[in-house]
Amino acid sequence: MKRPRKLLTVIIWGIATLCSAGASYGQLGNFEGVELSIVPVAGNVYMVQRPGGGGNIGVLVGPEGVLLVDSLFAPLADKLVAVVKEVTDSEIRFLINTHVHIDHVGGNENLAQMGVLIFAHDNTRLRFLEERMRFPRRGGSFLAQQPAVARPVVTYNDEISFHLNGEEVRAFLAPPAHTDGDTFVYFSGADVLHLGDVFRTTSYPIMDLYNGGSLRGTIAALDQAIEIAGPNTRVIPGHGLSVVGRAEMVEFRDMILDVQGQVLTMIKQGKKLDEVMAARPTADYDAKWGQEAGWTANDFVPIVYYELGGSGRLDDR
Ligand SMILES: [Zn+2]
Repeated sequence: MKRPRKLLTVIIWGIATLCSAGASYGQLGNFEGVELSIVPVAGNVYMVQRPGGGGNIGVLVGPEGVLLVDSLFAPLADKLVAVVKEVTDSEIRFLINTHVHIDHVGGNENLAQMGVLIFAHDNTRLRFLEERMRFPRRGGSFLAQQPAVARPVVTYNDEISFHLNGEEVRAFLAPPAHTDGDTFVYFSGADVLHLGDVFRTTSYPIMDLYNGGSLRGTIAALDQAIEIAGPNTRVIPGHGLSVVGRAEMVEFRDMILDVQGQVLTMIKQGKKLDEVMAARPTADYDAKWGQEAGWTANDFVPIVYYELGGSGRLDDR
């Protein structure tokens, strides 16, 4: 009796998975009428934005060629190339992927076919080899594997530097924060930091547990970025409409530390997740970081709770 039931469970799970993948494609794939814009950040560095401020692209321009940080979704690849052309006639030569999520690597295939050389951390490339790509929101949606041509060609296990257009661009592995392959990119001449999705101004931090992210790593990575940044450093968040500075990173990090401290106190008092949620440790911050429907305190706080040793398993939610 047990076997057929298990099989049925597997089939239902499979259908649910396919449906959620379909739903994700639908939700992620409606780009009709989306117009990208390009704004100067500092020196020869620009930021490409889409309405709503998702998957911000860093762009280094100059006579020796263009270097991009992240590639947005595939259907926006032509628009990305076109908007870069608004500020330079130079060819796009290099692309760094800050991590594996589809809103940051979806344009890889088109850019690779144009001859752009793609760089990423070793761990990020390994995620491209998995049968399905996992997206952290809505409990973890699945996407199909990207084609082989979209994979990073050059990988690094620590850091790599680019020297072009008079700029030194340092790309290096951050502690495991959003994923376990997060790259920070620092344009040292222009004094611009691109932090990928480790830092976002529109929601609580997303620790993608399916792809190796963690609370501890998020705090460590933000500490590292804050240490690098000076008073004039411009910071491109992975998501958010504005280029910001060191103070905004400090505010974001301190919010996480405060929530962490409150949750830890309640864990020590023996509180269960439901009680912690009811106490609303993010109450002071929800107006600022809790308004994005896909990732609210309901997603953030349980991750904090369980990583700090709260009892029960995440799957029990
Ligand atoms: Zn991401």
